[in-house]
Amino acid sequence: MAAGTLAAALAARIALEGPLTVGAFMAEALGHPRFGYYMKQDPFGAAGDFVTAPEVSQMFGELIGLWCADAWQRMGGPPEIRLIELGPGRGTLMADALRAAAVLPPFRAAVRVHLVETSPTLRARQAATLAPLARPTWHDRLEDVPDGPSLIVANEFFDALPIRQIQRTVHGWAERLVDLDPDAPEEAPRFRFVLELGRSPGRTLVPDSLRDAPVGSIVEVSPASRAVAGVLGARLAAHGGAALVIDYGYGDGPAVGDTLQAVRRHAYAPVLEEPGDADLTAHVDFASLAAAAREGGAEAYGPITQGELLTRLGILQRAQMLKRTAAPKQAADIDAALERLIGAAGMGTLFRALALAAPGFGPPAGFEP
Ligand code: SAH
Repeated sequence: MAAGTLAAALAARIALEGPLTVGAFMAEALGHPRFGYYMKQDPFGAAGDFVTAPEVSQMFGELIGLWCADAWQRMGGPPEIRLIELGPGRGTLMADALRAAAVLPPFRAAVRVHLVETSPTLRARQAATLAPLARPTWHDRLEDVPDGPSLIVANEFFDALPIRQIQRTVHGWAERLVDLDPDAPEEAPRFRFVLELGRSPGRTLVPDSLRDAPVGSIVEVSPASRAVAGVLGARLAAHGGAALVIDYGYGDGPAVGDTLQAVRRHAYAPVLEEPGDADLTAHVDFASLAAAAREGGAEAYGPITQGELLTRLGILQRAQMLKRTAAPKQAADIDAALERLIGAAGMGTLFRALALAAPGFGPPAGFEP
């Protein structure tokens, strides 16, 4: 690792300021303006590091587009609606959603597309994907999107937001930090985990339900995710609308465990080894997102599994329809994609969907009891 890499920049910062929280390390690894993972490359697809649901099949974005059209009708069909996506990647989900939304022309005409994306590389990619369909407006943060009734979609966005890790020791809870490995030469820095000495301010982040976890347990919290969920909830409560959050993670409340993972070229990699060159994610704690959105004033429904959501939204019927006009090879691809999206061996049960809505909206499509 030479100068001019993220590792060198992080090593210089640690040498100056001391060890970083896992959250600060993760934020730099993904979002450093020059060397951050999402800032410098397009990581998606077969040739990239990982494949997300919208990249598996057009059916995913199409059903989400129809979910939005249905939500718009339930809102009484406002003449303008902000269709907001958080972390749109290549723009594939939005493109498929907009194409599907064409079945309801008044909805399609009401849509104003807003993309919350920090990566210039991916913004350019999104602009290219969406050029035939929409003229989106980009924002760095959800807070920057102008007020108004909104439908908000976030797929694999929250898993990329920084988490902090607090570990139970014999002396109480201590924050896990990332420090320089003293055995590595200065010109080739390596990183290692250490525990914060003294009374960690981070100990106050441990939820009451986990305070008595056994020594050695690691608890993950994501103040960054909670903050975004709070803004989402407040926005829906003040201006109306609904949100759909899909990600992988814990369904029934926070649990102990170290879920920080690095993925590079479709394989797991050591989490501290290649900052900026591997994707870093962690399990999403849906209960905590729902609680933060409720504190913001919204109602929360679910989470349900991705398989349940897509099945209730009609993915089996959609696959049948696509297969009717497909060649045999394409038909087999559609079946494989379907299995990957809803099957237990794929994303069907690991991934979950949480819906948020303005008070009085009622459960959105797919979330009816
Ligand atoms: N939703 C897409 C991409 C998921 S990857 C898909 O399903 O394929 C995460 C996305 O969130 C990327 O577009 C990344 O650049 C963006 N992102 C990560 N952290 C962000 C942040 N703090 N603010 C805005 N966008 C962020």
